[in-house]
Parts: sequence; structure tokens; C-alpha cells
Amino acid sequence: MLSRLTTLLIAVATTAALIAAPAQARHVCTGAPGHVQSPVEIDRSQNCGSATPAITINYGFADGTMQFRDKNLNGVVDNHDDVSFVPDQFSDPHIMYGTTKYKLTEVHYHFDAEHKFQGQAQAPAEAHFVHASASGSTVVLGVLIDSVSVPASDAHDHPLTGVPTTLGDSWSIGSVNLTGMLPANKASFRYSGSLTSSPYTPVHWVVFNDHLEATSSTITQVKAPFGAAGNNRSRQNVAPRIYPGNP
Ligand SMILES: [Zn+2]
Repeated sequence: MLSRLTTLLIAVATTAALIAAPAQARHVCTGAPGHVQSPVEIDRSQNCGSATPAITINYGFADGTMQFRDKNLNGVVDNHDDVSFVPDQFSDPHIMYGTTKYKLTEVHYHFDAEHKFQGQAQAPAEAHFVHASASGSTVVLGVLIDSVSVPASDAHDHPLTGVPTTLGDSWSIGSVNLTGMLPANKASFRYSGSLTSSPYTPVHWVVFNDHLEATSSTITQVKAPFGAAGNNRSRQNVAPRIYPGNP
């Protein structure tokens, strides 16, 4: 049986250990790895090692179709719906994720942004570049977009300007500057997450550090059908393993 003094000493030692190790207690790079649910707040001070495998981006310009998608097919604008660009069959925008090719299947937008960097305000919009491999794995590149009166580039304004407000509409678009829709500086943060709408399947996420810009009036117009809440999933209260990379 432990004496009262021994019990007291154990309690003091335990308390001292807790006080001495708050950083370890917050560290998210230990424990079993796995995909968390997305989106998340990204703590850029977390570094679980270099991002692998290397990613090569092969975009350029593409023609294709813009869609105001009724993803639930329920005829009502809700927060799962989005505005998306789908490259045509003659374009081949893709990334190499290590030695595996992932085709760009679509670029869609969320208003407000879904991801957020710790210490920053939530951006008004976020573009998701969705890629699929032949075996069905998914890589998504995320770009946060700020709202300004005169953007440095019209790369995002081009597909978003004049978007019809009728759910289910689609329209042709040419010369979408996919390369220009990504930041020039490819510093980014990777984590293992999920799609942010049904079926919430696993995603290799790459979220760029630098924001891009779109015209305030354009963002206001495209967001309007979704109402004040927009079309975004709430951030999930989880801390994934963060891997800084370029990209
Ligand atoms: Zn998305």
C-alpha cells in the first residue's frame, strides 16, 4: 500500500511533468497516421517532415465547360452545390504525384473558404483543383482567394465573371488559365484529409500558402445564390499531420 507521502510525491511529479511538456502534449506528428475529415485549420508551425512524393504540375490553358452544379440533384441551391470548371477531352491538365499521373477532373469554388491558416482571417473564397488517378485516388490542390477591387491577375475572374444564377446551367468557356489560377510561389502544406462534401472519401490535400485574388463584385455575384452562409463545410475540429512542401 502506498503511504500518503508517496502518493503526494507521485502527484507532484505528475503535475511537474504536465507543466514541463505542453509542447509535446500539443504535438500532432505522433500516434497513428490516417485521413482526417476536411476542411481543417492549418497550423503552419507544425512540421511533420518534408512533403512527399514530389509533385509536378502540368496545366497551361484549357477549354471546357462551366457548370452551376446541383450536386444533390434536389433542384434546390444548397451548400453541397458549386460552380465548377471541367476541362474538355482535348485538354490534358494533370499533375504527377511521384510517378503517378493524376488528371485534373474539375476546378470548383467554395464561398467562403473552407481551409483557414491559424492566425489569418477566413478568406472569402477557395478554389479546389480535383485530380484523380487511374486507380481512383484523389489529390486536391487548394487555393485561398482574397476579395479585392482590382486583382493582380484575372485568372479566377475569367471563369467566374457572368456566371448564370440558374441551378443546373452549363456554358462553354475557352482559354482558362489554369497555371495562372495557382500562386507563383508554390510553398504549400499537405495533409491527409477528405472530400468536403459527400461521399467524404480520402484526399491527399495540398493547400498553397499564398492567396490569389478575385474582384469583389465577382465573388459577391457568384456567392449570391448560396446565401450568406455560402457553400462550404464547417471546419472539422481535428489537427492533422502537416507536411510543408513546394508544392
Ligand atoms: Zn471543394
